[in-house]
Amino acid sequence: MTKPRPGGRVGLARLPSVDRVLQSEAGRTLIGAHGRTAVRDAARAVLAAVRAGRSVPAGAADPAWIAARCAARLEARAAASLRPVFNLTGVVLHTNLGRALLPEAARAALDAAAAHPCNLEFDLSAGGRGERDEHVEGLLRELTGAEAATVVNNNAAAVFLLLNTLALRKEVIVSRGELIEIGGSFRMPDVMQRAGCRLREVGTTNRTHRHDYEGAIGARTGLLLKVHTSNYVVQGFTAAASERTLGALARSRRIPFAVDLGSGALVDLAKWGLPAEPTPRRSLECGAHLVTFSGDKLLGGPQAGMIVGERALIERIRRNPVRRALRLDKLRLAALEAVLKLHLRPEELARRLPTLRMLVRPLAEIEACAARLLPALRQALGSSAEASIRPSACQIGSGSLPMNTLPSACLALVPGQRRKGAGLKGLAAAFRGLPVPVIGRIERDALCLDLRCLEDEAGFLEQLPRLRP
Ligand SMILES: *Cc1c(COP(=O)(O)O)cnc(C)c1O
Repeated sequence: MTKPRPGGRVGLARLPSVDRVLQSEAGRTLIGAHGRTAVRDAARAVLAAVRAGRSVPAGAADPAWIAARCAARLEARAAASLRPVFNLTGVVLHTNLGRALLPEAARAALDAAAAHPCNLEFDLSAGGRGERDEHVEGLLRELTGAEAATVVNNNAAAVFLLLNTLALRKEVIVSRGELIEIGGSFRMPDVMQRAGCRLREVGTTNRTHRHDYEGAIGARTGLLLKVHTSNYVVQGFTAAASERTLGALARSRRIPFAVDLGSGALVDLAKWGLPAEPTPRRSLECGAHLVTFSGDKLLGGPQAGMIVGERALIERIRRNPVRRALRLDKLRLAALEAVLKLHLRPEELARRLPTLRMLVRPLAEIEACAARLLPALRQALGSSAEASIRPSACQIGSGSLPMNTLPSACLALVPGQRRKGAGLKGLAAAFRGLPVPVIGRIERDALCLDLRCLEDEAGFLEQLPRLRP
């Protein structure tokens, strides 16, 4: 017997065949989990990689060694890319973390629509073709006071479709103070150009008056547009024409007036002591012909864009051929219907709608949660970081005013002296490396885990022993 050498031609010759790997015990287990084709391809890839290497690793002659490498490959591939995380960033509606969480009723409706055929565009009473908007139009009319409503993929699509329908090759008058950019490169002037409209800017960044709009109205005017400047504020010497003023102006000149509300809560949040957000109902009462808003911001539903307002204008929007490319699928339509239904019982909303439930969560409850978690967290961190409870300020997020914060509490983790600058980043990475990644925010000297949005306390605690700080 020659002694096996690690590497060289002798090593290569000793590699098992693909068949031997597949027939080994480890190979058969893998086939049970991933299927024969995938395991065969993985075995070929692992063997090819070993052959291409400069030396053959000592264990490579053993089919079980190859199978173990295959298992690692197959598991990495099978792991979902889109995964649940803990949002402890202190931003309740975090766009990068998927914004609103769906209430139970919406998840059930979504599941039913996914598993069964449904009357998406089928009129059950007449037995013929129906219109998908009908599942939510009545609810939106009731909740906003609008004559009619249509829904599309998201609010960006709603704005685009509205502009393209009402102001193609015409001018859209907008205040210079409202030419906003929303995260992810949604810039009002660019969207307008792509929608085929000419932007007619009026006023100045800080002050725009009724007469600015009035002076710009002419034969080519297609639309007056007001954009809710949700993600920033102009402070100090400022002036803006109100919705009521613009509504009256537009009506006297027979031009449509649209308001892009962005978040657009359907209920008055001030009822729960939250910062007031404009509602679509109020914009319509002020004279807007059309209002657009998102489904997954303060409405607390799935990604969607609502357009509500005058029936004749909604009909024109429905006839735009581009709408087909922007329409809502049955899953989100089912979820949206369920979320809108919850809004019909506002007294239960704070209990049933996760977004609102987190926004109204009392500070004392968040502090109590912090106190309960602190000992386990200290134990998991050992000497790598100091943990303490600190006051925190939560943002509503997704374009709601960044200065309207909600008092909250966080676990502040300060890395030990030895770790210096790299400590904070390393600590944040360790929390992201947990089976359900924990996303916090770095604030000065500490990694802050804001607890306003932590509802699954047990799930959070359960995985702490696996932290590798
Ligand atoms: C968020 C927002 C949008 C974009 O809405 P999406 O639903 O994210 O497409 C448009 N306009 C305003 C004012 C917004 O706040």
